[in-house]
Amino acid sequence: MIEKALRDARKIVIKIGSNTLAQSDGTINREFMRDFASQCADLIESGKQIVLVSSGAQVAGVSTLHRWARKRDIHYRQALCAIGQVELMDNWRQAFSERSIHIGQLLLTKDDFQDDYRTLNMRNTLFTLVDEHVVPIINENDSVSTEEIKIGDNDNLSALTAILWGADLLMLFSDIDGVYDKNPKEHGDAKLIEVVPDVAVLRNSILLGSSNSFGTGGMATKLEAAEKVTAYGIPMLLANGSASRCLSSLVDGSRLGTIFLAK
Ligand code: GLU
Repeated sequence: MIEKALRDARKIVIKIGSNTLAQSDGTINREFMRDFASQCADLIESGKQIVLVSSGAQVAGVSTLHRWARKRDIHYRQALCAIGQVELMDNWRQAFSERSIHIGQLLLTKDDFQDDYRTLNMRNTLFTLVDEHVVPIINENDSVSTEEIKIGDNDNLSALTAILWGADLLMLFSDIDGVYDKNPKEHGDAKLIEVVPDVAVLRNSILLGSSNSFGTGGMATKLEAAEKVTAYGIPMLLANGSASRCLSSLVDGSRLGTIFLAK
């Protein structure tokens, strides 16, 4: 099912979570980024178009400064993102340049998706970048977003992006293999659910755990993202980004994940 969804999709939005980009000590995982960019390049060479949604501005900020890791104050968090976003993109730029691919940055807020004129401009920019073989990399504009205008998590941001661009598939890479019937970190007998035909039915049948340590989402926002895109006819794939060759192994069918079928 996953192999087929990937084979059939030409336009793919891929979201990478902070937990996937961070190492256990909280610093940014450059090795992962290099390897991931190279797998994206393979997909592009096989005829796919890719838009990335990358979290990790805060993680990269801490990684660069080596301080403010525990500051919860909004001004410090926004300042950290201002510092980290540059670092994050610098790392992506280096990673993609090894395969001679240029990247472009789009920093978006909730307001942008509610304004027809801005959404049109965002769409046009995405189409132009992709047509010119540049990989757009999107994040929330954390340094200007306050609670009122925040999307809040990149799962929902990537879903909005997939709808805006008219993607054929949304892929979320997280620190979990997919959706389980129970939280696998707490229950040894938890089973991976490979295919989800209906998010609402799934919601009532699983136990949701709390959100993870670096990211903002947890499973709840992944289900919200799935609900959003599947309603627009876009399937969503949730898979583990920490597995080696995480993207290629899904393409060749050697790894599992959870696929949410389009309505
Ligand atoms: N935009 C945040 C960052 O780059 C992450 C949001 C999320 O993890 O969902 O740090």
